[in-house]
Amino acid sequence: MFDETVYIDRAEAVLSARAPALCESPMKPDNAPETHIQRQTITFKFRLRDRHAAELNRQARAVNYVWNYVNETQQKAARAHRKWLTAFDLQRLTNGASKELDIHAHTIQRVCRAYDDARKTHKKAWLRWRGRKSLGWVPFNTGHVSFDGADFKFRGVAYTPMHLRDLKPGVKIGAGSFNQDACGHWFLNIPVEVECALSAPLSSVGIDLGLHTMATLSTGEKIEAPRLYRASEEKLGTAQRARKTKRARAIHAKVANRRKDFLHKASAKIAKQFGLIIVGDVSPSKLAKTNMAKSVLDAGWSGFKNMLSYKANYRGGAMVEVSERYSSQTCSACGSLPPSRPKGIAGLGIRRWTCDECGAIHDRDVNAARNIVRAGLRTLVGGAHV
Ligand SMILES: [Zn+2]
Repeated sequence: MFDETVYIDRAEAVLSARAPALCESPMKPDNAPETHIQRQTITFKFRLRDRHAAELNRQARAVNYVWNYVNETQQKAARAHRKWLTAFDLQRLTNGASKELDIHAHTIQRVCRAYDDARKTHKKAWLRWRGRKSLGWVPFNTGHVSFDGADFKFRGVAYTPMHLRDLKPGVKIGAGSFNQDACGHWFLNIPVEVECALSAPLSSVGIDLGLHTMATLSTGEKIEAPRLYRASEEKLGTAQRARKTKRARAIHAKVANRRKDFLHKASAKIAKQFGLIIVGDVSPSKLAKTNMAKSVLDAGWSGFKNMLSYKANYRGGAMVEVSERYSSQTCSACGSLPPSRPKGIAGLGIRRWTCDECGAIHDRDVNAARNIVRAGLRTLVGGAHV
């Protein structure tokens, strides 16, 4: 097998070599200070305080009004002349309506553009109407929302988020939107250009995502997902039996929020410690073993991977995803596929095993994580043409 340390050294060289290359800009004047900063756009989502709901609901109704007006006009045009109105036509049509509707002129523009895009992607002559059941949506344009360190300002109104994470005052905020969820809570979704550090800790880690243990690191550390759902299940049952749909929804949302919070903390800790994070894609055989909905697991895993990816970038590191094929069957000590390895779906129940070839005793998940980090370093070094 190959010499792992050589690969690690080379991969680390790749990572550190990235730093000066990214700072060198041909546009940079000679007297500009040395920058060790890289810019990257990340979309942040903030839950807003409920007291803002009334104003946002009002704006969302105005947005629906614009949407339906545009839809009606398009419907008539399609029926009469088989004609498609362009985003430009729609914008001319709605020009000057912002004062009357008391919403931002650019909100109307973005609605027109979104309408045009949606009609094109769905290849429909006209679209569905936006009504009371539609989830609230208020888009805005680049630079129209600002952040002062505590509140977000839009059209002279300050919106307070429930939690703040990783955001500096005065950041440039791109075109985004206010969005409502099924519980009626409002969120602010904003793309933000952040400055990422270019010096990441020069160490790598492999992560095996699983069912028994949420994430196992190649260092042997295990991250267990908190069993939030069990505790809430009883309360949920009571609410459902009493047909309190709103209460049940609130419990679901609370569980989802707590889980997300946990994932944020876990991913932040990993990104702080390791510059190169290698994650295995989740194989279908893993999913076959569970009766949990695939979508639920997928959502958790992909959310976790997203967080790892942006948090790693934020700190100047990187996340790489590799195929986890054979990662749990290969012996990470000698690299062979011994007859004693855990195979197939039946093998999923085996937590510990001993390699016939070299006698190494493996924890199934730690062994997989070690193979993942090795596979990641191999692809990284191969891809970088070192
Ligand atoms: Zn072995």
